[in-house]
Amino acid sequence: MQDVTIYIINGVLLLGACLLCVSFFPIQRLVGQLPEGALRKRWNDLRALILFFIMGYVCFTFLYWMEYDNAFNLVVPAVFFLGAVLILFVGTLALQTAIEIKQMAALQYENVTDHLIGIHNRRYLDRRTEEEISRARRYDMQLSMLLLDIDHFKIVNDNYGHQIGDRVLMSLGQLLFREVRDTDIVARYGGEEIAVLAPHTSVSSAIELAERLRRSVEKSIMVPANEYEKRQAISITVSIGVAGLDKEVVDHQSLIHRADNALYGAKQQGRNRVVDFDSVKESS
Ligand code: GH3
Ligand code: MG
Ligand code: MG
Repeated sequence: MQDVTIYIINGVLLLGACLLCVSFFPIQRLVGQLPEGALRKRWNDLRALILFFIMGYVCFTFLYWMEYDNAFNLVVPAVFFLGAVLILFVGTLALQTAIEIKQMAALQYENVTDHLIGIHNRRYLDRRTEEEISRARRYDMQLSMLLLDIDHFKIVNDNYGHQIGDRVLMSLGQLLFREVRDTDIVARYGGEEIAVLAPHTSVSSAIELAERLRRSVEKSIMVPANEYEKRQAISITVSIGVAGLDKEVVDHQSLIHRADNALYGAKQQGRNRVVDFDSVKESS
Protein backbone atom coordinates (compact mmCIF):
# COMPACT_ATOMS: atom_id res chain seq x y z
CA MET A 1 0.00 0.00 0.00
CA GLN A 2 1.21 3.49 -0.80
CA ASP A 3 2.76 5.53 2.00
CA VAL A 4 0.35 8.38 1.47
CA THR A 5 -2.67 6.09 2.06
CA ILE A 6 -1.10 4.75 5.23
CA TYR A 7 -0.55 8.30 6.46
CA ILE A 8 -4.21 9.11 5.67
CA ILE A 9 -5.37 6.06 7.66
CA ASN A 10 -3.21 7.00 10.64
CA GLY A 11 -4.25 10.62 10.30
CA VAL A 12 -7.92 9.59 10.44
CA LEU A 13 -7.26 7.59 13.61
CA LEU A 14 -5.40 10.43 15.31
CA LEU A 15 -8.07 12.92 14.20
CA GLY A 16 -10.64 10.63 15.87
CA ALA A 17 -8.58 10.72 19.08
CA CYS A 18 -8.48 14.55 18.82
CA LEU A 19 -12.29 14.69 18.41
CA LEU A 20 -12.65 12.55 21.52
CA CYS A 21 -10.42 15.04 23.37
CA VAL A 22 -12.61 17.93 22.10
CA SER A 23 -15.76 16.11 23.29
CA PHE A 24 -14.37 16.49 26.82
CA PHE A 25 -15.22 20.22 26.77
CA PRO A 26 -19.02 20.07 26.31
CA ILE A 27 -19.17 17.12 28.69
CA GLN A 28 -17.09 19.05 31.24
CA ARG A 29 -19.52 21.99 30.97
CA LEU A 30 -22.49 19.64 31.22
CA VAL A 31 -21.09 18.09 34.42
CA GLY A 32 -20.72 21.65 35.78
CA GLN A 33 -24.46 22.26 35.19
CA LEU A 34 -25.52 19.15 37.06
CA PRO A 35 -26.08 18.99 40.82
CA GLU A 36 -24.12 16.51 42.93
CA GLY A 37 -25.72 13.09 42.53
CA ALA A 38 -26.04 9.89 40.55
CA LEU A 39 -26.50 11.57 37.17
CA ARG A 40 -23.34 13.66 37.58
CA LYS A 41 -21.47 10.51 38.58
CA ARG A 42 -22.64 8.75 35.40
CA TRP A 43 -21.34 11.56 33.20
CA ASN A 44 -18.04 11.47 35.08
CA ASP A 45 -17.90 7.72 34.43
CA LEU A 46 -18.46 8.44 30.73
CA ARG A 47 -15.55 10.89 30.77
CA ALA A 48 -13.30 8.19 32.21
CA LEU A 49 -14.51 5.85 29.48
CA ILE A 50 -13.72 8.42 26.77
CA LEU A 51 -10.21 8.81 28.21
CA PHE A 52 -9.83 5.06 27.96
CA PHE A 53 -10.96 5.17 24.31
CA ILE A 54 -8.51 7.98 23.49
CA MET A 55 -5.69 5.80 24.77
CA GLY A 56 -7.11 2.92 22.73
CA TYR A 57 -7.12 5.02 19.54
CA VAL A 58 -3.53 6.17 20.08
CA CYS A 59 -2.27 2.66 20.92
CA PHE A 60 -4.06 1.21 17.88
CA THR A 61 -2.49 3.86 15.64
CA PHE A 62 1.05 3.10 16.77
CA LEU A 63 0.59 -0.68 16.93
CA TYR A 64 -0.57 -0.88 13.32
CA TRP A 65 1.50 2.06 12.07
CA MET A 66 2.77 0.48 8.83
CA GLU A 67 0.69 -2.68 8.87
CA TYR A 68 -1.97 -1.71 6.32
CA ASP A 69 -1.83 -3.65 3.11
CA ASN A 70 -5.27 -3.43 1.46
CA ALA A 71 -8.29 -1.13 1.18
CA PHE A 72 -10.27 -3.10 3.79
CA ASN A 73 -7.84 -1.84 6.42
CA LEU A 74 -9.58 1.51 6.04
CA VAL A 75 -12.81 0.18 7.56
CA VAL A 76 -11.63 0.02 11.20
CA PRO A 77 -10.08 3.53 11.27
CA ALA A 78 -13.21 4.91 9.57
CA VAL A 79 -15.45 3.29 12.21
CA PHE A 80 -13.17 4.66 14.95
CA PHE A 81 -13.40 8.11 13.42
CA LEU A 82 -17.20 8.04 13.11
CA GLY A 83 -17.42 6.79 16.72
CA ALA A 84 -15.48 9.87 17.85
CA VAL A 85 -17.76 12.15 15.78
CA LEU A 86 -20.77 10.50 17.42
CA ILE A 87 -19.38 11.05 20.94
CA LEU A 88 -18.68 14.72 20.17
CA PHE A 89 -22.17 15.14 18.71
CA VAL A 90 -23.87 13.48 21.68
CA GLY A 91 -21.81 15.51 24.20
CA THR A 92 -22.65 18.82 22.47
CA LEU A 93 -26.31 17.89 22.10
CA ALA A 94 -26.57 16.86 25.77
CA LEU A 95 -25.03 20.17 26.85
CA GLN A 96 -27.43 22.21 24.67
CA THR A 97 -30.39 20.19 25.94
CA ALA A 98 -29.36 20.76 29.57
CA ILE A 99 -28.99 24.52 28.98
CA GLU A 100 -32.39 24.78 27.28
CA ILE A 101 -34.15 22.72 29.96
CA LYS A 102 -32.63 25.01 32.60
CA GLN A 103 -33.86 28.10 30.71
CA MET A 104 -37.33 26.57 30.35
CA ALA A 105 -37.45 25.78 34.09
CA ALA A 106 -36.40 29.36 34.92
CA LEU A 107 -39.11 30.72 32.61
CA GLN A 108 -41.68 28.40 34.13
CA TYR A 109 -40.64 29.53 37.61
CA GLU A 110 -40.99 33.19 36.60
CA ASN A 111 -44.37 32.44 35.06
CA VAL A 112 -45.85 31.19 38.31
CA THR A 113 -43.96 33.32 40.84
CA ASP A 114 -44.64 36.75 42.22
CA HIS A 115 -41.23 38.39 41.88
CA LEU A 116 -41.78 40.87 44.73
CA ILE A 117 -42.87 38.48 47.49
CA GLY A 118 -41.29 35.30 46.13
CA ILE A 119 -44.46 33.22 46.51
CA HIS A 120 -46.77 31.93 43.76
CA ASN A 121 -48.80 34.36 41.67
CA ARG A 122 -52.48 34.63 40.81
CA ARG A 123 -52.12 32.64 37.58
CA TYR A 124 -50.71 29.68 39.50
CA LEU A 125 -53.36 30.01 42.21
CA ASP A 126 -56.22 29.96 39.67
CA ARG A 127 -54.83 26.91 37.91
CA ARG A 128 -54.10 24.96 41.08
CA THR A 129 -57.45 25.86 42.65
CA GLU A 130 -59.25 24.49 39.61
CA GLU A 131 -57.14 21.29 39.75
CA GLU A 132 -57.63 20.86 43.50
CA ILE A 133 -61.39 21.35 43.18
CA SER A 134 -61.57 18.58 40.56
CA ARG A 135 -59.36 16.31 42.68
CA ALA A 136 -61.40 16.95 45.84
CA ARG A 137 -64.64 16.21 43.96
CA ARG A 138 -63.25 13.03 42.39
CA TYR A 139 -61.92 11.57 45.65
CA ASP A 140 -64.55 13.12 47.92
CA MET A 141 -62.01 15.16 49.86
CA GLN A 142 -62.22 18.50 51.60
CA LEU A 143 -60.64 21.71 50.40
CA SER A 144 -60.46 25.19 51.92
CA MET A 145 -59.34 28.62 50.89
CA LEU A 146 -58.03 31.42 53.13
CA LEU A 147 -57.81 34.99 51.91
CA LEU A 148 -55.68 37.43 53.95
CA ASP A 149 -55.60 41.18 53.67
CA ILE A 150 -53.28 43.45 55.65
CA ASP A 151 -55.16 45.85 57.91
CA HIS A 152 -54.67 49.55 57.20
CA PHE A 153 -51.76 48.88 54.91
CA LYS A 154 -52.14 52.30 53.33
CA ILE A 155 -51.01 53.79 56.63
CA VAL A 156 -47.79 51.72 56.52
CA ASN A 157 -47.10 52.98 52.99
CA ASP A 158 -47.98 56.56 53.92
CA ASN A 159 -45.86 56.57 57.09
CA TYR A 160 -42.78 54.67 55.91
CA GLY A 161 -42.93 54.72 52.12
CA HIS A 162 -43.61 52.06 49.50
CA GLN A 163 -40.21 50.38 49.80
CA ILE A 164 -40.81 49.59 53.46
CA GLY A 165 -44.35 48.53 52.47
CA ASP A 166 -42.77 46.09 50.00
CA ARG A 167 -40.50 44.70 52.73
CA VAL A 168 -43.56 44.15 54.93
CA LEU A 169 -45.18 42.19 52.10
CA MET A 170 -42.06 40.07 51.63
CA SER A 171 -41.85 39.27 55.36
CA LEU A 172 -45.54 38.37 55.42
CA GLY A 173 -45.12 36.06 52.42
CA GLN A 174 -42.14 34.31 54.03
CA LEU A 175 -43.92 33.98 57.37
CA LEU A 176 -46.98 32.39 55.77
CA PHE A 177 -44.82 30.10 53.68
CA ARG A 178 -43.01 28.89 56.84
CA GLU A 179 -46.22 28.34 58.77
CA VAL A 180 -48.29 26.29 56.33
CA ARG A 181 -47.94 22.65 55.28
CA ASP A 182 -45.89 21.71 52.23
CA THR A 183 -49.07 20.72 50.43
CA ASP A 184 -50.73 24.11 51.01
CA ILE A 185 -50.38 26.73 48.31
CA VAL A 186 -49.50 30.29 49.27
CA ALA A 187 -50.06 32.81 46.47
CA ARG A 188 -50.39 36.55 46.01
CA TYR A 189 -53.98 37.18 45.06
CA GLY A 190 -53.62 40.89 44.41
CA GLY A 191 -52.05 44.05 45.96
CA GLU A 192 -51.63 43.13 49.62
CA GLU A 193 -53.95 40.15 49.61
CA ILE A 194 -52.53 36.66 49.92
CA ALA A 195 -54.44 33.41 49.45
CA VAL A 196 -53.72 30.07 51.06
CA LEU A 197 -55.27 27.05 49.35
CA ALA A 198 -55.41 24.14 51.78
CA PRO A 199 -56.14 20.71 50.26
CA HIS A 200 -57.54 17.92 52.52
CA THR A 201 -58.65 20.60 54.98
CA SER A 202 -62.14 21.05 56.42
CA VAL A 203 -63.53 24.51 57.13
CA SER A 204 -63.10 24.05 60.90
CA SER A 205 -59.41 23.06 60.44
CA ALA A 206 -58.96 25.97 58.03
CA ILE A 207 -60.38 28.36 60.66
CA GLU A 208 -57.85 26.97 63.17
CA LEU A 209 -55.06 27.42 60.64
CA ALA A 210 -56.23 30.97 59.88
CA GLU A 211 -56.33 31.81 63.59
CA ARG A 212 -52.80 30.45 64.04
CA LEU A 213 -51.58 32.54 61.10
CA ARG A 214 -53.36 35.64 62.37
CA ARG A 215 -51.77 35.32 65.82
CA SER A 216 -48.36 34.62 64.34
CA VAL A 217 -48.55 37.76 62.15
CA GLU A 218 -49.76 39.85 65.08
CA LYS A 219 -46.79 38.98 67.27
CA SER A 220 -44.12 39.12 64.55
CA ILE A 221 -41.96 42.07 63.62
CA MET A 222 -42.22 42.52 59.87
CA VAL A 223 -39.45 45.11 59.48
CA PRO A 224 -36.98 45.58 62.36
CA ALA A 225 -36.31 49.00 63.91
CA ASN A 226 -33.59 51.07 62.30
CA GLU A 227 -31.89 53.61 64.57
CA TYR A 228 -30.04 55.24 61.70
CA GLU A 229 -33.29 55.93 59.86
CA LYS A 230 -35.03 56.66 63.21
CA ARG A 231 -37.63 54.04 62.40
CA GLN A 232 -39.48 51.85 64.88
CA ALA A 233 -40.03 48.14 64.36
CA ILE A 234 -43.07 47.58 62.13
CA SER A 235 -45.78 45.09 62.99
CA ILE A 236 -49.07 44.52 61.22
CA THR A 237 -52.31 42.65 61.66
CA VAL A 238 -54.31 40.78 59.04
CA SER A 239 -57.95 39.96 58.49
CA ILE A 240 -58.70 36.52 57.08
CA GLY A 241 -61.72 35.15 55.24
CA VAL A 242 -62.20 31.37 55.09
CA ALA A 243 -64.33 29.36 52.66
CA GLY A 244 -64.67 25.63 52.06
CA LEU A 245 -65.60 23.58 49.05
CA ASP A 246 -69.27 22.54 49.00
CA LYS A 247 -71.88 21.69 46.37
CA GLU A 248 -72.63 25.33 45.62
CA VAL A 249 -69.03 26.08 44.67
CA VAL A 250 -68.93 25.64 40.90
CA ASP A 251 -65.38 26.73 40.06
CA HIS A 252 -62.25 28.38 41.45
CA GLN A 253 -63.78 31.84 41.06
CA SER A 254 -66.73 31.03 43.28
CA LEU A 255 -64.44 29.59 45.98
CA ILE A 256 -62.28 32.72 45.96
CA HIS A 257 -65.40 34.90 45.82
CA ARG A 258 -66.68 33.24 48.98
CA ALA A 259 -63.36 33.71 50.77
CA ASP A 260 -63.44 37.35 49.65
CA ASN A 261 -66.96 37.79 51.08
CA ALA A 262 -65.78 36.32 54.37
CA LEU A 263 -62.76 38.66 54.32
CA TYR A 264 -65.09 41.60 53.80
CA GLY A 265 -67.04 40.39 56.85
CA ALA A 266 -63.81 40.31 58.89
CA LYS A 267 -63.05 43.90 57.89
CA GLN A 268 -66.60 44.97 58.74
CA GLN A 269 -66.39 43.32 62.15
CA GLY A 270 -63.33 45.37 63.11
CA ARG A 271 -60.28 43.71 61.38
CA ASN A 272 -57.52 41.51 62.88
CA ARG A 273 -59.87 38.54 62.95
CA VAL A 274 -60.89 35.36 61.14
CA VAL A 275 -64.35 35.03 59.64
CA ASP A 276 -65.71 32.10 57.66
CA PHE A 277 -68.12 32.31 54.76
CA ASP A 278 -70.92 30.34 56.45
CA SER A 279 -71.15 32.79 59.35
CA VAL A 280 -71.28 35.74 56.92
CA LYS A 281 -73.99 33.97 54.88
CA GLU A 282 -76.06 33.24 57.97
CA SER A 283 -75.87 36.81 59.26
CA SER A 284 -76.83 38.40 55.91
P1 GH3 B 1 -57.99 47.71 55.04
O1 GH3 B 1 -57.76 47.42 56.47
O2 GH3 B 1 -59.39 48.08 54.75
O3 GH3 B 1 -57.54 46.60 54.15
O4 GH3 B 1 -57.13 48.99 54.74
P2 GH3 B 1 -55.96 49.15 53.71
O5 GH3 B 1 -55.30 50.43 53.96
O6 GH3 B 1 -55.08 47.96 53.74
O7 GH3 B 1 -56.79 49.23 52.41
P3 GH3 B 1 -56.69 48.41 51.10
O8 GH3 B 1 -56.58 46.98 51.42
O9 GH3 B 1 -57.82 48.81 50.21
O10 GH3 B 1 -55.36 49.05 50.52
C1 GH3 B 1 -54.42 48.36 49.84
C2 GH3 B 1 -53.16 49.17 49.87
O11 GH3 B 1 -52.07 48.30 49.64
C3 GH3 B 1 -53.12 50.23 48.83
C4 GH3 B 1 -51.81 50.03 48.12
O12 GH3 B 1 -51.06 51.22 48.19
C5 GH3 B 1 -51.11 48.98 48.93
N1 GH3 B 1 -50.40 48.06 48.08
C6 GH3 B 1 -50.92 47.19 47.19
N2 GH3 B 1 -49.93 46.51 46.58
C7 GH3 B 1 -48.76 46.95 47.08
C8 GH3 B 1 -47.39 46.63 46.85
O13 GH3 B 1 -47.03 45.77 46.03
N3 GH3 B 1 -46.46 47.31 47.58
C9 GH3 B 1 -46.81 48.24 48.50
N4 GH3 B 1 -45.86 48.84 49.18
N5 GH3 B 1 -48.08 48.56 48.72
C10 GH3 B 1 -49.06 47.93 48.04
MG1 MG C 1 -55.70 46.02 53.37
MG1 MG D 1 -56.65 45.05 50.04
